[in-house]
Amino acid sequence: MEKYIKQLVQDIQNAHRQLTKEETDKAETFEQHIEEVERFIAGEEDLIQQSFGYHCRLNKEQFPPPSRLTVEQMNKVCNAFEKLLFTWNTHADFPVGLPIEMAYETLVSILDRKFITPTSGFVGLEFCDYEPRECRFKEHCTCKELFAEMEEEERQIEIQVQHLLKLLEAALNKMLLGTSFSAMHRLSLEDPNPIGELQIIAEWLDIPIDDFPSKNKLSDKQLEALCDALLAFWHPEDDMHIWLAAVNPSTRYRGLVEFLKTKVWCTNKGKIILPPVDPEVLKNIKSPLDNLNLRDTLDFSEDDFQDDLPF
Ligand SMILES: [Zn+2]
Repeated sequence: MEKYIKQLVQDIQNAHRQLTKEETDKAETFEQHIEEVERFIAGEEDLIQQSFGYHCRLNKEQFPPPSRLTVEQMNKVCNAFEKLLFTWNTHADFPVGLPIEMAYETLVSILDRKFITPTSGFVGLEFCDYEPRECRFKEHCTCKELFAEMEEEERQIEIQVQHLLKLLEAALNKMLLGTSFSAMHRLSLEDPNPIGELQIIAEWLDIPIDDFPSKNKLSDKQLEALCDALLAFWHPEDDMHIWLAAVNPSTRYRGLVEFLKTKVWCTNKGKIILPPVDPEVLKNIKSPLDNLNLRDTLDFSEDDFQDDLPF
């Protein structure tokens, strides 16, 4: 076997990539690099039709099963293989401390893989699909820890969301005296008659505004639940409610949470008075919707309504 391994290492060395002079010159230009990056991103199918084994002219059958090799022999083959990958501008991402048998088998498996071997830059091959139960590296993979962390974060977010939903419900019940956010008006500059304290709506409602998770961290279900709870503060026929219901959920969420940050006075439960604004500024504010920049992100276009017309 020792003799065979020596030959195999030699074969691997012979499989090193030999770029032609033209390819080498081209590889050094920035344009070539950009072109390859673009090709790589586009994942051009025709470029990845052949396996790595096809390109380097090695095949899996040349590699004995790990059970027939000593640790030292596997190390030799793995080192040679990693150098080979390097000449093909490729490297394999392995977890730290991976047993040599797994590294050996994984490296050999690359021969069947189809990927673009760039002439400049490097491609990092991953073997983990972040499915801990199916991961080929089993307990050696760090994806498990990553998952545990993600699950813990998701759990915390869910607790936070449930807590916010409770607070919002309580706040809504306090407001339920025939009032909603539609019952708000703005003091004029001539008649600034502040009542009590000027504070953000969330504070009036006893809602910890900083506890609203960023929309990226929320599941669709959580986003929807929070939006519904926030929309409940609006009269369904209010312009704001109608428009907020029409935009996509992330814009709706952002708009609703932003609104809670508006500084207002409150006369009594739910009655909101906005601080006076310079009439010049006010002239440019056509509706609350403009403040939220909703126009660019509306879910529908006018075309969507064409089919609904009864004539
Ligand atoms: Zn993994």
